[in-house]
Amino acid sequence: MTEIRAPMSAPAPPQPLPDALSQPYWDHAAKGELALPRCQACGTWHALPLEFCRKCGGKPSFQVVSGEGEIYSFLIEHHPVAPGFDGLMPYVVAMVSPREAPELRLISRLDGIVPDEVAIGMPVRARFVDHPGGDFKLPVFGPA
Ligand SMILES: [Zn+2]
Repeated sequence: MTEIRAPMSAPAPPQPLPDALSQPYWDHAAKGELALPRCQACGTWHALPLEFCRKCGGKPSFQVVSGEGEIYSFLIEHHPVAPGFDGLMPYVVAMVSPREAPELRLISRLDGIVPDEVAIGMPVRARFVDHPGGDFKLPVFGPA
């Protein structure tokens, strides 16, 4: 007797969990826009959504940026650390300094670059890709 088995599907990667503070980020991402929190009072950029500015206590809001930046640092991932990324091995995870706020470090996957050719200081640009297993779009950075 032959057993018919469904093909194994690849596990979905972990999904973002938006909250009231981060929802505007995901709303912009759904439109293909990279937006970062910026204090409305003093202009300080923040890497994470905050209720109050850490510098002056003002109210941050999300501001759309160009998506351009440069690689501050990076690593090449050779072993799966989370489900859903096996097919991408090896891939590059980079810290990107955005052009408008070079003091920040955005953590992202690089795409469209051969891992051995990645270099610190390389100019990159964000684009948004569908995140498997949900309705989110995530930024990845590639050659500018
Ligand atoms: Zn401020």
